[in-house]
Amino acid sequence: MEKTGCCVTIIGPMYAGKTTTLINISRDCKKKGQLVLGFKPKKDDRYGLDSNFHSHDGDVESCILIENTDEILIDANYNDANVIIIEEAHFFDENIVTNIERMIDDGKYIICSGLSGSYKRRTIGSIANIIALSSTITQLYAKCELCTETTLAPFTSKISGEHGTDIEVGGKNTYIPVCEKHFNQYD
Ligand code: ADP
Ligand code: MG
Repeated sequence: MEKTGCCVTIIGPMYAGKTTTLINISRDCKKKGQLVLGFKPKKDDRYGLDSNFHSHDGDVESCILIENTDEILIDANYNDANVIIIEEAHFFDENIVTNIERMIDDGKYIICSGLSGSYKRRTIGSIANIIALSSTITQLYAKCELCTETTLAPFTSKISGEHGTDIEVGGKNTYIPVCEKHFNQYD
């Protein structure tokens, strides 16, 4: 029987639980005996360049650091892998799109995570094209950092650093999750 692959994508602002979700899916698949390969971009150096996914809660799960998604297809364990996890997918260049298509054709179950939008509320990298080829999209929300009550935060605001570049890797000192009202305060 022909293998059927698919791509599922998890999007949201920063601090929404994207990495936590990836880590949990990775563990569930491993428990079921599947061979899981996780990849993250070297560009994401917030936790140094160690070979782990890091959630903001301090959870970690091993992965492979790559510069380009071409490296996934030539990984020594690619042929045997059932599940391919790609963290921070917006950081990879546009060939991530054709590489994911190739992985789907190869029968892989691909899980991507990425930012739903930039701090300017524009799409980043190839995330919009990845969404277009995904069979399932999960939108996660964070909690607005500036609301006293619990309000869902669909957006990320840049509170320091350079304004102008779409991509600047940063943490809590640079970006915070915000609701509609507080996004406009920083816009
Ligand atoms: P993402 O990958 O979407 O940035 P993570 O999965 O790494 O998110 O982390 C999500 C978790 O971070 C939440 O479950 C929560 O426990 C924690 N968190 C949420 N908001 C904050 C915050 N403002 N500061 C620190 N940790 C937070
Ligand atoms: Mg994350």
